[in-house]
Amino acid sequence: MADKLYECDLHVHTTASDGGWSPEEVVALAARRGVRTIAITDHDTTAAVGRAVAAGGRQGVEVIPGVELTTAEGNHLLGYFIRPAEGELDQYLSALRKRLLAYMRRVVEDMRSTLGLELTPDELERCAGGGIPNMSHLLHLLHSTGRLPSPRFDSPEAVEFFGDSEYLFNYYRTFARSRPFTDTARAIRMIRAAGGAAVWAHPAHSRELDNGYIDSLKACGLAGLEVVTPKHGASTRTALLELCRQFNLVPTGGTDYHGRYYESIEQGSEIGSCGVDPPTFERLKESAESLRKTG
Ligand SMILES: [Zn+2]
Ligand SMILES: [Zn+2]
Repeated sequence: MADKLYECDLHVHTTASDGGWSPEEVVALAARRGVRTIAITDHDTTAAVGRAVAAGGRQGVEVIPGVELTTAEGNHLLGYFIRPAEGELDQYLSALRKRLLAYMRRVVEDMRSTLGLELTPDELERCAGGGIPNMSHLLHLLHSTGRLPSPRFDSPEAVEFFGDSEYLFNYYRTFARSRPFTDTARAIRMIRAAGGAAVWAHPAHSRELDNGYIDSLKACGLAGLEVVTPKHGASTRTALLELCRQFNLVPTGGTDYHGRYYESIEQGSEIGSCGVDPPTFERLKESAESLRKTG
């Protein structure tokens, strides 16, 4: 049976973070699948947005400028319709990028001395195309230069190559120990100040999900909860829809698309296989606009 195709997929990653395809490639994929609208929501970077919007203009795909912020509590916050130069979002992201770059430089140095890996931080940075280099780029580089047969984290060759390297499997957690991420409340405020609508991504995976917490986030300006994602089963989606009704939040959706390298892990998550219909998309847009007016 063919999966339902949504017109709007509001959660797509590119090579600017840990996605496997460039901004132009994800737009081309969306166009090929007949998806009308996609939101580019890379982790803690908006580096791919400009290129994706331009590609969208050429290919007839509406591209929503977005971001997925990692928070100190370990939550993921999606920002839609953002203008990062407004408010402090840009500043926050570039400071965070600096810390991540410094961290990845240390990782590369460490791998050079412990694994004898001949690789420079500059190569890795180039791979991220102005975004944030991470372990996906490292594996991609090792794969594309023939040093690993597969660019997957969990391939037997990668596991053997890296042994029980803390970096490979826990690099974000290790980085997070330096407390670089803002808290969820401030993340919502930054998205709002940038003219955007803030949506809690895959909330069922958070320990904090309860009515009191949602109430407090709503007071900071939370606009929605991500409901339709491959990470949520049917009963979770129903429970989250009920929470959206209760708190007047927009139920959003997206595939959390990462593309190549993850396809066998993220089964059934082709662009457009999760998302929202146009009326819900309009509601989210209106929500960003009305929050913009009320400040
Ligand atoms: Zn996420
Ligand atoms: Zn994501």
